[in-house]
Amino acid sequence: MKFDKIKLKWKIFGYILIFTVIIIMVFCFFQIFMLEKMYKSTKTNQVADLFTEIETRIINTNDLNDLRLLNDLQTSATDYETAIYLFNLDGDEIITINNGDYYQKLKDESIFQDIVNKALATSKWKQFYIIFDNNVPAPNKMDYPIIHNAPISSIDTAIISGKFIELNQIRYLLILDSRLTPVAPAIKTLKQQLLYISAIVIILAIIVALLIANIISKPIRIINEDAKQLALGKRNINFNGNGYAEIAELNNTLNYAVAELKKTDELQKELLANISHDLKTPITLISGYAEMMKDLPDEFNADNLQLIIDECNRLNSLVLDLLDLSRLQSKTINFKLVEFNLTDLIKSIVIRNQQFLENTGFVINFKYDMDVFINADYDRIGQVIYNFITNAVNYSKDKKIIDIIQIINDDRVRIIVKDYGIGIKPEEQALIWNRYYRIDKTHNRSNKGTGLGLAIVKEILDFHGFEYGVESKYHEGSSFYFELPYNKKV
Ligand code: ADP
Repeated sequence: MKFDKIKLKWKIFGYILIFTVIIIMVFCFFQIFMLEKMYKSTKTNQVADLFTEIETRIINTNDLNDLRLLNDLQTSATDYETAIYLFNLDGDEIITINNGDYYQKLKDESIFQDIVNKALATSKWKQFYIIFDNNVPAPNKMDYPIIHNAPISSIDTAIISGKFIELNQIRYLLILDSRLTPVAPAIKTLKQQLLYISAIVIILAIIVALLIANIISKPIRIINEDAKQLALGKRNINFNGNGYAEIAELNNTLNYAVAELKKTDELQKELLANISHDLKTPITLISGYAEMMKDLPDEFNADNLQLIIDECNRLNSLVLDLLDLSRLQSKTINFKLVEFNLTDLIKSIVIRNQQFLENTGFVINFKYDMDVFINADYDRIGQVIYNFITNAVNYSKDKKIIDIIQIINDDRVRIIVKDYGIGIKPEEQALIWNRYYRIDKTHNRSNKGTGLGLAIVKEILDFHGFEYGVESKYHEGSSFYFELPYNKKV
């Protein structure tokens, strides 16, 4: 089974399980393997602190028989689980605060005297350690010598350390005997506990994974079901699975997609109607006239033949536009990008249109400052300008003027095709670039367009990455434009 086919709940469970195992392992590591080390190092550091504490107390009190001092030392001994001994240099016990029976044990094994002797022998050292367990680290990174390091059979482990202190110019030996509680039994208990904890945590992980997976996947499942319906062609779907922000966002996106699909569906229906209508009308006319000319020899004249030719041309341009748009949209057309004189191209198109519109009363003005060179597909850019002009002609009213303006702004050139015709309502301005979109859906024969011109323009300009748009006032006229960087000649 591929990883991306695994169900969400098992994935979440997997991740939670991995997370849990890591946590348990870290916990085990610290509790089982590090516990003893950490305990011992804490203890040795405590001993170091205790030395300072006791020394300060003794020196501050300045009386070794002071009851308050003895009381304080007793408290420290209890707090730190430590026995405190103070000797003079002759080996006489001055203070003994015996916390338990360690002292006796030490004495019994005649180790204590050995320690005292060794300590006295190394009196040049102010502080030293006697360690009964190899694993016990000396505090302060062994700044002081270890004068004895051997296990004592009757004592598990201990940190015994000593320090010389001075009181009224007399030196004393302070010895601290700090017990280490064996950690092995504690670790055993911990191991057992960890076993239970692991079991509980894994069960909890399964429950949490199932809950989380349900919360996350439920809305996804609902959306998926709706999306399947959408794919089957159902369009009255409202995605409303909720639960969290991402799903709400997905809903919005899908609802937007549904709205767009609905629009496309409608456009497609409209297109079929339009195309069938546009194809049928000229064909009916052509066959009608042909029949008539066949039956009535009088009607066989140049005018009627011209009518047939016009209708054939109309059919031809519709089919050509359709083919062109479909090839542009499927990106099967290669654009030939070359450098050419845009101003010249516009001039030639204007001249051709002027000749064509000679008897219609249309005036086309072209305003420009200088010749501009651009990199683009020569024929396609010509087609864009040609389409803009054709539309301007088709949608003009009484004022039959078309202004073409070339504006240079820094390194960009803008070409505007301006008419004073019917104009476009603001809400229609974004829609006219859609294929098959026509504002006037009545399809009267005076409307010469195919509804594809601007869609073709859009494809061409999008391909080039040029800016384009329309500024228009309803009933006042429209300015179609496109804008692009031009080549500066030095
Ligand atoms: P058509 O072949 O119908 O002109 P186009 O794609 O060229 O198709 O234009 C789409 C629609 O945009 C047109 O049907 C028309 O309603 C509107 N339109 C285009 N150019 C103009 C213009 N200069 N003035 C007003 N409306 C326009």
